[in-house]
Amino acid sequence: MYNSFDELERDCKACKKCELCKTRQNVVFGVGNKKAEVLFIGEGPGENEDIKGEPFVGRGGQLLDKMINAVELDRNTNIYIANIVKCRPPQNRDPLPEEQEACMDWLRNQIALIKPKIIVCLGRISAMKLIKPDIKITKEHGIFFEKNNFIIMATLHPAALLRNPANKPAAFEDFLKLREKINEVCEHTY
Ligand code: SF4
Repeated sequence: MYNSFDELERDCKACKKCELCKTRQNVVFGVGNKKAEVLFIGEGPGENEDIKGEPFVGRGGQLLDKMINAVELDRNTNIYIANIVKCRPPQNRDPLPEEQEACMDWLRNQIALIKPKIIVCLGRISAMKLIKPDIKITKEHGIFFEKNNFIIMATLHPAALLRNPANKPAAFEDFLKLREKINEVCEHTY
């Protein structure tokens, strides 16, 4: 386990533990406040994220920013955003189970250092990995689970909302519930 976020980030950015290191342009470690009480976790970087080295910076990221900003959250101040895998899977395919497993140690260390109170899974892959393998995200998004002393919720992936805009209001309901939960359990002023 790491004591320093900077050392963790340095080592992660040199990682070659799975095949995704061969096709990446950048390791997308994460962005935000390292002491955030709310941690968002997606599945992996896409093309724009791979180019810029930052999670959720394409059209999906812009939609995510709109929704988080609407509940007074901001990637530059009071939340942290990371992914299950830190390198882009080719053609944006789902990360393979072995790639997810190889990469999980980086995320485990991020979680141990950030110590969030609330984790929000962005999309099915993250929810299956972090909440339960058989989660039905279309039915169980917006529900708060308790696991390993974290409060954890899944919401629909922003890219899925771009494909199905009719689901945006339901996803936004999740963010309103998240705001209520933050008011209930978080200590810092958000
Ligand atoms: S995806 Fe994760 S485990 Fe694989 S090379 Fe990138 S940082 Fe390492």
